[in-house]
Amino acid sequence: METSPVRVRFAPSPTGRMHLGSGRTALYNYLLAKRTGGKFILRIEDTDTKRTVPGAEQELIDGLRWLGVDFDEGPDIGGPYGPYRQSERKEIYQQYARELVEKGHAYPCFCTPERLEKMRQDQQKRKEPPHYDGNCRRLGQADAAARVAAGEKHVIRFKMPREGSTVARDLLRGDITIENKNIDDYILVKSDGFALYHLAAMVDDHLMKITHVIRGSEWLGTFPLHVNIIRAFGWEEPVFIHLSVFLKPSGKGKMSKREAADALKDGYSIFIKDLKDLGYIPEGVLNWIVLMGWGVAEGDVLTLPEMIEKFDINHLNPSPAAINFTKLDHFTGTHIRMLTDADLAGRIRPFFEAAGYTVNDEILNKLTPLIKERIVTLDEAVEMAGFFFKEDVVPALEDLIAKGLTHEQSAEAARQILSTLEALPDLRHETAEPALRALVEQTGLGAGQVFGILRVAVTGQRVSPPLFESMEIIGREKSLARMARAVAMYQSNS
Ligand code: GLU
Repeated sequence: METSPVRVRFAPSPTGRMHLGSGRTALYNYLLAKRTGGKFILRIEDTDTKRTVPGAEQELIDGLRWLGVDFDEGPDIGGPYGPYRQSERKEIYQQYARELVEKGHAYPCFCTPERLEKMRQDQQKRKEPPHYDGNCRRLGQADAAARVAAGEKHVIRFKMPREGSTVARDLLRGDITIENKNIDDYILVKSDGFALYHLAAMVDDHLMKITHVIRGSEWLGTFPLHVNIIRAFGWEEPVFIHLSVFLKPSGKGKMSKREAADALKDGYSIFIKDLKDLGYIPEGVLNWIVLMGWGVAEGDVLTLPEMIEKFDINHLNPSPAAINFTKLDHFTGTHIRMLTDADLAGRIRPFFEAAGYTVNDEILNKLTPLIKERIVTLDEAVEMAGFFFKEDVVPALEDLIAKGLTHEQSAEAARQILSTLEALPDLRHETAEPALRALVEQTGLGAGQVFGILRVAVTGQRVSPPLFESMEIIGREKSLARMARAVAMYQSNS
C-alpha cells in the first residue's frame, strides 16, 4: 500500500457539467492524498478555449465543496505551483515544446489544412488508419527553425520513435505494450500557440510534482504517447491509474444525453449539482460513487473519514461499473438516518423554503425526528411534512372514506373519533392513542380505518409522519377543529 505522502490532482476540462465520473475521479484522488497525508490539487484544463463552457469551472468547484472533497491547491485558492488554470500557463508549455524541438523529440509542422485533408482522404482510400505521414518530420532542423523565425504558421508535433515498442505501466492493468509505429506524431502545440492535453498535462504533472495520476480510462489510448513525452524530457514517471468507466443502469453501453434526461424525470441524475437539488446528501452520494470501482465489500456504509482510513489504490477495480440509482437511494436514506436531528433540520429547511413555506424553527425541530426514518431524499420532507407549516389543510373527501367503509360508515366513525378526542383532557400521544384503541375495540372497526380517517382529517394527507406525534405538534385546538371540519364535510356531501 502507498504510504509516503502523495501529490495528486483532479484535472477536469470545464467543457460541460460535473458528472458522477468526475466526482469519483476527484474522490479517489482526494482519498489517496488524505490516506497518505499528501496534497490534492485542482487543475483546470481549459486550453481548448472553443470548448470551454462559461460557468463550468464554478460548477466543478461548487460540486467538490458540496461533496466535501476539498482541494489543497487550486485556481481560486492558489498554492506553491500555480497558476492552476492551464489557460494561464501558455508560455510555460511553449517553452517546454521548444525544449523538445531542440532535443530532437518534436518538430514544427507547416502542413496546411488542405494538404492534411487530402492526406486523410488518400489514407481512407487506401483503407489505412488516419495518421500524419511525416512530411515535416523530414525537414532539416535549421531549415525548420528559419521558417518558424520568419513567422510561418505551424504546429509542433511529437517525433514518435518509429522503431521498437513502448511499455506503459498502469497500476491496475499492468504493462501495456504498443508498437511505436502505431503511435502517431501527435500535435503538442496548435498553430494558435495553445498546447494540447498531451503536452500540457505532462508538463504540469511534472512541474506540480504529481506522484500519482488517477484519471479516466478514455486516456488509455494515448497513454503510450504520454509516457514517451515524459521519457523524452527525461522526467520521472508518476504512477498511472486509469479508472473504470460508468455504464448505464442496464450495463449496456454508456449513458446517452437522452437517457440522462429520462433519469431526471424519475428524480435521478448523473450530474452532481442536480443530485444536490434533488435532495440527495453528499454523504450518500460519496458512499455510492466510492463503491463503483473500489473493492471494499459491496453494501458497505462508509463515512468520508472511514473511506480515508480504508482506502487502498491497489484495490481499485478497472472493470466497468453500471450506474444503479436504487443504491443511491439506499445510501442517501442510510446516511440521512445517521445525521443528528439538528443537522438534518438545517438541511431540510431550504427545501421547505424553496417550496414557499415560512419555516417556524420550533415546529421544524419537532418534525425532524418524526420524518428522519421515513425519507430517502431531503425534498421528501416537504411532501411528507409541509402541512405542519400550513395554517389550514383541506382534505379531499374521497380520502376521508376509509378503505372497506361506505361514506355513511366513515362519517359515523369520524363523529365518534371527534367525540372521543373532545372528551380527553389533552391530546398527548399517551392520552389519545389508548382512547382511540378503545374506540376501535368498541366499534369493531379496523385500527387502520379509524387512524386513517383521523390522519386525513388533521394532516390533509393519506401518508404522514406518525399520527399521534404529529397531532402533538399541530396542537389540541387545531386538531379538534380539523376533525370537526371533516365531520361537517361528510354531512354537506352526503
Ligand atoms: N482534462 C482531462 C479530462 O477532463 C483530464 C485528464 C487527466 O486527469 O489527466 O479528461
